[in-house]
Amino acid sequence: MNKNIVVVGSSNTDMIVAMDHIPAPGETVLGGDFSTAAGGKGANQAVAAARAGGTVTFVARVGDDLFGRTAVEGFKADGIDTSLIQTDKDAPSGVALIFVGNAGENSIAVASGANGKLSPADIDQAADCIKSAAIVLIQLETPIETVTALLNVADANSIPVVLNPAPAQELDDALLGKVSIITPNESEAEILTGIQVTDESTAIQAASALLARGPGTVVITMGSRGALVKNCDIEEMIPAFKVDAVDTTAAGDTFNGVLAANLAQGVSLQDAVRFANAAAALSVTVHGAQPSAPHRDVIEAFLAASSR
Ligand code: ADP
Repeated sequence: MNKNIVVVGSSNTDMIVAMDHIPAPGETVLGGDFSTAAGGKGANQAVAAARAGGTVTFVARVGDDLFGRTAVEGFKADGIDTSLIQTDKDAPSGVALIFVGNAGENSIAVASGANGKLSPADIDQAADCIKSAAIVLIQLETPIETVTALLNVADANSIPVVLNPAPAQELDDALLGKVSIITPNESEAEILTGIQVTDESTAIQAASALLARGPGTVVITMGSRGALVKNCDIEEMIPAFKVDAVDTTAAGDTFNGVLAANLAQGVSLQDAVRFANAAAALSVTVHGAQPSAPHRDVIEAFLAASSR
């Protein structure tokens, strides 16, 4: 069985200044601590899938600059195939400028740069790889015409697509009908269905409404509650693991990458969600996005310890 996972999506460099308080317009605040971290939903998910044992090809666009080169080196270090990452001569690499105040509040400006230029032509270029993939994973930090082009190639070749609809936006039924598994969190599920998801029963209602619009399976991630899985055969709340959360950034990204990695290996949907819950629980115990994505041996050890 071909186990290749194709992740299509964004790569950003997060530039974080932790400071006393977030500057108001016109204000200068001195005394912050600066750090950078690799981010972008596509990149986070590709890294999580690779660390969970997946064979990953990442389709993306970066700028011809230090940020882009550093990001690609990071992907290579995680064993990701970077041959379909294009270097855009005209746009800078994506960046997110993040101010964090001492009460944990934040203020984020994203300049998508080259991510906004990931195009249907890039999907054409990746078509052979997509056609031979076990599974394809995409989010919504990529132009919608590119998401549509990917779904068209995958659908025409019966390749399953996991769509993580983040950040949330309205999606039409023609697009949703080509999605195998859609993975909104609670607020994304609400934006897509108008149903406020607060517990298992409202999650089931939202999942039913979403299923009626076309995807084969709905997985609603529900933070420390876990994830609800629903399709025509299964309706199951798969509980989260209890951990001391320190930073829930990119929990959803780890969940999606690890879910795709397990599905590509032929693991059943419920077992893949259980494994993704374990990986995402581990990720919230560590600060940062990509730094927090756990490796497969760590996830397996955690699962073994949890079942004792
Ligand atoms: P997002 O990061 O997209 O908002 P969620 O908050 O739903 O997504 O988290 C995704 C998954 O991460 C959850 O389904 C769960 O498995 C895990 N998770 C998130 N927060 C916690 C937590 N506090 N404790 C344990 N697991 C968590």
